[in-house]
Amino acid sequence: MSKILEKPSHEASIEEKINWLRRLNQEHSDFFCSPDERLQRDLYRAQHPTEIGAFKCMDGRINIPILTQMPLGIIQPFRNLGGKFDLGWPYLGQAFENWVNYAIKKGRKCLVLVTYHFSKGDTHRGCAGFHYDTEAAIASAKSFKQQIERIFGKKRTIVYPIVVGLETDTDALIFHGVDEQQLDLGQLKADVEVNDLRHKLSELYPDMDEQMINDLLPLVVGNLRQIAEIKKLNRPVDDSKHREFIVGIGRGFDWLHEPNIALLIGPYSPDSYQPIKTAFEIIQSNMDEKRIKDDGFIVLASSPYFQNLGVDRQRAIEKTRYLISLAQEVATKRFPDLAKKMHTISAIIDINTRKIEEI
Ligand SMILES: [Zn+2]
Repeated sequence: MSKILEKPSHEASIEEKINWLRRLNQEHSDFFCSPDERLQRDLYRAQHPTEIGAFKCMDGRINIPILTQMPLGIIQPFRNLGGKFDLGWPYLGQAFENWVNYAIKKGRKCLVLVTYHFSKGDTHRGCAGFHYDTEAAIASAKSFKQQIERIFGKKRTIVYPIVVGLETDTDALIFHGVDEQQLDLGQLKADVEVNDLRHKLSELYPDMDEQMINDLLPLVVGNLRQIAEIKKLNRPVDDSKHREFIVGIGRGFDWLHEPNIALLIGPYSPDSYQPIKTAFEIIQSNMDEKRIKDDGFIVLASSPYFQNLGVDRQRAIEKTRYLISLAQEVATKRFPDLAKKMHTISAIIDINTRKIEEI
């Protein structure tokens, strides 16, 4: 996908950032709705029918579509603090089952990426949600994968969960196989043959059907391209530190197709207070360490709707109102100084156009 809008500079004021955010949404929505893009997406879906979902950390550096150079709207994200999830949570369990049922009705299987992240250069650029303990993050991802298998079938015939690591200094993905094997894309040459990759994936996942392997391949090829580009750019390590100035709460953020600008919290955990608190701590430390300007930050609450009439849209409005009130409560109770710098945007998003509407 082409680069639409440059990120605001370090010197940009909070008002400029807010305006930039609105423009970014407008441009992404225009792009998403354009005939070329729509047709390409439809063609891609026809060629790669597997539904792909990704469970990931709220960390702004974790952006699977960018890392895999995938088009917008193909990978369904599920985000929470530290990438910690439990399908026993009533809302998450329901949302995930709805996603699986939607896929099945369309005649598609589901590939589920259960991700964790770390930095090989410095443990403290790892996952704050696990107190930088990568082994704990991997153990949690493996246990969540097992939970998915308990619910949707241990033979993985329809729902196939895999554990995927992300090394944030190089953007390399590490695929964990069904036994203890791993495929670290950071160790492969950029020009490796697609057939070799296909072979490696079938070794890693011997019971994965051919179609799913075919639909996983573009992510692998895209990530190899991304790794090569990052290497060529010689990206300073500083860029892989937290620089988020937005806290996004809710769903429907894939138009925020930019790394490291937003901490994104799904509405899945029964305790949303804790992830919001952690997000505010990260924003506070971004300001304290001067990684972002300290004149303000944005809380963007977003709820998607599918139908522009009746109950669906109204429920989205109510959800957004609730999420904003929760953020305000956490800010005023726990971060009184930061609360003064908080700019809220209450939005609902039409999932057919990816256009936000402020309420
Ligand atoms: Zn994390």
